[in-house]
Amino acid sequence: MRLAPARLRHPTLRAPSLPSAAADFCGKGRKARTSVRFAGARLILFTLLLFVPFALRAQPHFNGAKALDYARQFVAIGPRWVTSPGHLKAEAFLRDHFQHDQLEEDTFTANTPIGPVAMRNFIVRFPGKKDGVIVLSTHYETNYPLRNINFVGANDGASTTGLLMAIADQIRGKQLDGYSVWLVFFDGEEAIQTWSASDSTYGSRHLAAKWGRDGTLAKIKAFMLADMIGDKDLDIQRETKSTGWLVDLVRQAAHKYGYDRYFFQTEEAVEDDHLAFVERGVPSIDVIDLDYGPNNSYHHTAQDTLDKISARSLTIDGDVFLETIRLIDLR
Ligand SMILES: [Zn+2]
Repeated sequence: MRLAPARLRHPTLRAPSLPSAAADFCGKGRKARTSVRFAGARLILFTLLLFVPFALRAQPHFNGAKALDYARQFVAIGPRWVTSPGHLKAEAFLRDHFQHDQLEEDTFTANTPIGPVAMRNFIVRFPGKKDGVIVLSTHYETNYPLRNINFVGANDGASTTGLLMAIADQIRGKQLDGYSVWLVFFDGEEAIQTWSASDSTYGSRHLAAKWGRDGTLAKIKAFMLADMIGDKDLDIQRETKSTGWLVDLVRQAAHKYGYDRYFFQTEEAVEDDHLAFVERGVPSIDVIDLDYGPNNSYHHTAQDTLDKISARSLTIDGDVFLETIRLIDLR
């Protein structure tokens, strides 16, 4: 993905900064204390302040360590740019992992600056009781132009592949109470030569067009894209082309867990795999942290390695995606 051209010419816009969960909580506490007149009420308030953190800790969390372990296995394959042996191994890895699930391999030929290239999206379906579909997606390949620098995309491609695999572990086994959840692993997100509308996001453009033709798009209640959110230093931007109500639900999900400070403190327009869906009127969000390392120095460099991503960030992502699914189901 890359910043939309307009954004490249301007300094980062700051969205109105949100108070962190802790600040919010303390603020409420202070206000309450000044209005409380009786010692008994103060004691109740004090007790609440003591126990709320324990209640938060007791909330079950997503298994980010498992997502990280999947990402580690995926990175161990090595670089996986289109046409490489590593790409074939990455395909085999996903095929093997989802062999007992409803897996569809969506193959197509992309017209690229290096000629026609065979590409392959992976779609894994988990049926729900409600009529409609929630899509969670990532891309899984690495950059063709970086094929000579051992670029493994630990954050860019692998972290979110691991995240979706661990989410599958969470939802597999019985029919979901809400909408069906489909996991999509896109091929060909990265530019083959230089990023442009025609040289990028091959897999998502192909699938959105195909699903437009066969009527599938009309069933999609929400399309959520995860990109580069394994970053240890997590600061997810509010992507400005994303659908407002879906952004609000993600914000609400993050708030439930006290994760406010990791989400939407800044905003920018990013060109990514969600756009083909946005353009076709599907409610969509790109959950992306395009601020990776000092001055973004880990992005698309050999420094995008496993030590830069964390189980903690993947726990935050998983908690928020699963809670957002719950909120969409309630809508
Ligand atoms: Zn990338």
